Amino acid sequence: MTLDNEAGLDGFTRDLLDEIAGGGTAPAGTAAELAELHKAAEQGEGTAPIVRFFGALRAAKREQGSGYEAFGFSREQLLALCAKHVQIDEHCVTVGGRVGRALEVMAQANPRVEEYLALKDVEAPSGIELWDQILENQARIKKVLKLDDATWNSFSGQLGNAINDVETLAKCIDLPADAIRDVTRVTAKYRMRLTPYYASLIQRGVANDPVLLQAVPTAEMVDNVGLELPPVASDHSPARLIDQFYPRVVAVKVTNICAMYCTHCLRIAHIGNADRTFSKKAYGEALDYIAANERIRDVLITGGDAFMLNNENLRWLLGRLDEIDHVRMKRLGTRVPVTTPQRVDSELLDILEESNDKGPVRVVTQINTAQEITPVSKQAFKDISRRVMAVLNQAVLMRGINDSKPKMWKLVETIQEAYVRPYYVFNCSYRNPQYTHMRVPVEKGRDIIEGMYGNISGDAIPRYIAAAGGKVPLHRDNLVRHEDGKVILRKPWSGEETAYPDAVPELYNDDTDFAFNKYGKDE
Ligand SMILES: *Cc1c(COP(=O)(O)O)cnc(C)c1O
Ligand code: SF4
Repeated sequence: MTLDNEAGLDGFTRDLLDEIAGGGTAPAGTAAELAELHKAAEQGEGTAPIVRFFGALRAAKREQGSGYEAFGFSREQLLALCAKHVQIDEHCVTVGGRVGRALEVMAQANPRVEEYLALKDVEAPSGIELWDQILENQARIKKVLKLDDATWNSFSGQLGNAINDVETLAKCIDLPADAIRDVTRVTAKYRMRLTPYYASLIQRGVANDPVLLQAVPTAEMVDNVGLELPPVASDHSPARLIDQFYPRVVAVKVTNICAMYCTHCLRIAHIGNADRTFSKKAYGEALDYIAANERIRDVLITGGDAFMLNNENLRWLLGRLDEIDHVRMKRLGTRVPVTTPQRVDSELLDILEESNDKGPVRVVTQINTAQEITPVSKQAFKDISRRVMAVLNQAVLMRGINDSKPKMWKLVETIQEAYVRPYYVFNCSYRNPQYTHMRVPVEKGRDIIEGMYGNISGDAIPRYIAAAGGKVPLHRDNLVRHEDGKVILRKPWSGEETAYPDAVPELYNDDTDFAFNKYGKDE
């Protein structure tokens, strides 16, 4: 950019001045308005009045064909304002750069998010936005199940009154008679369990409510045909309770219990039909395997659901892991703060902090819709996030639940505002034929997730993953080709190609004179 210091003139400003130059008619109304704006630009203190004046001059030219000379302004007067603008602006931005480029560029970019902004609260209301309706649902469910507030607000009260048969469910939420018949048929084979709290998130009058879809199994689960592949663990379990894909990370499945059972659960084979707490002997064997393998650095405590362990067992387990020198990081996999936030008590928070002080703890959760973030779950995540390194989310991309930009974008923004960082979005797995009807094509997911670049805060963009014997990223390659020492990149938000000069290989590979290497050779 060349800058004529005297006039604050750069290429952008010259282009702008050329565009707005010329005579023509001077409609009285416009002339009076421009005279006012000019006075404000000359006498005002900031840059905004100058920007408004030039914006109005350009509008007069574009809309009425009238150049600035028609309104009696001289090029010298305009140049004086250009110089004033550059002088005021901390970053030496010129009038041409601001009016001619930056504001134009934003005007072109803004439509990328217009559709999302228009639809997000309609298509994907959060549990915070739906809170009044949820409170009504809670009042109804409390009455049906005869629960007092103390019972409702306690974890044991929620679990003890979990809804696991369709008759009770039908009293708590609206279900058509033929749906009840099918759910009865499915639940003869697959277990259903919703905490009363989670059931209260289901919107009335929405046939395929996304929380309903996650919690209440439908006929497809038994009607889908196909071969069930063996549970992932059977060929990835080098020791009791352990799943291992990677040399330095292991998952320990410490329980098969969850507060609610997801209709899309990958671990359906482990969850089985009966809740089981595992023995200390089993835990001991898993811990022995970890202790004997010095490569293992990061241990993921999962299940089932890690928060289904009681505080005593959780403290013991984390304590044992913290005694192993090579275990530096821990993760706890849990959906409980979403489905039963009442579990997050002060003792649990103390346990998390205690272990986090010894080595980072991350809580990894699963939230699939903004609807699952309520004032109550948000508070639970806020409390947890103050005591651990990070709270991360692993969502599953599912038909009708979060398979659109408004739904998925709203999810990542809502959880981020609830102190949770989007981490992974899984393409719903092919392994269990029960879930075939929930699956979304890989490319659809790429549009949704990659469309986030440039339109969503970078730290709210999850990685899109296929679970295929380990987690394989599905992201599109933005590197188009190499050309004359440059890399041609594609901007994900506009498709526009841009040339990015690469490091010079000869320089990179020659380290004889690199930095301090060149010194001290004379002695
Ligand atoms: C998901 C998973 C991990 C952790 O993988 P990251 O990519 O580190 O999040 C480790 N082990 C098993 C068995 C897993 O399923
Ligand atoms: S919380 Fe996780 S393990 Fe439990 S049912 Fe849901 S998906 Fe399965």
